[in-house]
Amino acid sequence: MNPYETIKEKFNERAILNLPAKEITSYKTGGAIDLIVYPENTDEIVFILDFIKKKNLNYFICGRATNVLISDNGFKGVFIKTDLFKTIRHEENRIFAFCGVLWDKMIELSVLNGLLGLEKTSYIPGSIGGAIRMNAGAFGQETFDKLEKFEVIDLKTLEVKELLKSSVKYGYRYVKGIENYFILGGEFLFEKKDPKELKNIRDEIIKQRFEKQPLEFPSAGSVFKRPDNDYASRLIEVCGLKGIKIGGAMVSEKHSGFIINTGNATSSDIYKLINTVREKVYQKTGVLLELEQVIVGEF
Ligand SMILES: Cc1cc2nc3c(=O)[nH]c(=O)nc-3n(C[C@H](O)[C@H](O)[C@H](O)COP(=O)(O)OP(=O)(O)OC[C@H]3O[C@@H](n4cnc5c(N)ncnc54)[C@H](O)[C@@H]3O)c2cc1C
Repeated sequence: MNPYETIKEKFNERAILNLPAKEITSYKTGGAIDLIVYPENTDEIVFILDFIKKKNLNYFICGRATNVLISDNGFKGVFIKTDLFKTIRHEENRIFAFCGVLWDKMIELSVLNGLLGLEKTSYIPGSIGGAIRMNAGAFGQETFDKLEKFEVIDLKTLEVKELLKSSVKYGYRYVKGIENYFILGGEFLFEKKDPKELKNIRDEIIKQRFEKQPLEFPSAGSVFKRPDNDYASRLIEVCGLKGIKIGGAMVSEKHSGFIINTGNATSSDIYKLINTVREKVYQKTGVLLELEQVIVGEF
């Protein structure tokens, strides 16, 4: 039996064959993924990972696909999608959230309960798992500021473990030592503050996002990491690259750190535009911009 059929049989409507990536990515681009499976509990993830290992299949752990560029040729293998891991618990100044919970759902809950420390990351559109993996952040706050510990599956041994944040290295938009884990969820510890003050900050941040970011177009947020002592968007602008297009992909005129899909972009258009911007910025300024987004499949 085709190995994908075995998973399809076990997971029924929670396993989808050949779905175009454009239906799940925030860029709204990308070709067919052999199989997307939506596990509901840890045992199911372990089952899938074990099966994948035995059958020697490719796989990709996928949150809300808001930081990925998936090839137009799609993905030969299994996407393990975390959307159904939705449990979130709040107790005094702690929140525990599973990997599939929307990041902003946790931030909203923290703000409502007067929990200080991540309110400026309001409206980041990914999942808890994606935020921990990327150390997502905004306006000077980042995931690892308040993350205390997290639960993972070791991808080699398939053991479930709890890790303290001190057991990995992290910094601006990176975490090292986490590559071989499936993140199941995280526990966050906050200080207390007046919820009204936090709500005001959250409202202001969301307002700024709508004013300054091209949220009316599909994108995956900032394409590049901030270089030392500068901003990718500033460098892109001074190099005259604001608004340049390849196919349907365009460097946003509203925020030049974003590449947007103007309607009919392919992943290949976006990929070519990323490379063009990197080359031109390097030629003109000597700064090699580092990609923040994750490239999946063949380009
Ligand atoms: C409009 C817009 C604005 C954005 N603004 C910001 C911003 O202000 N700051 C910021 O940091 N980012 C921003 N982003 C990018 C993105 O939302 C974040 O990086 C987010 O944390 C990604 O989460 P995700 O669930 O979508 O991850 P995905 O895109 O699905 O995956 C990203 C990476 O995380 C890995 N991953 C996901 N879940 C798990 C898991 N459970 N276990 C192990 N690995 C996992 C994937 O394999 C992949 O390598 C923005 C994106 C958009 C579209």
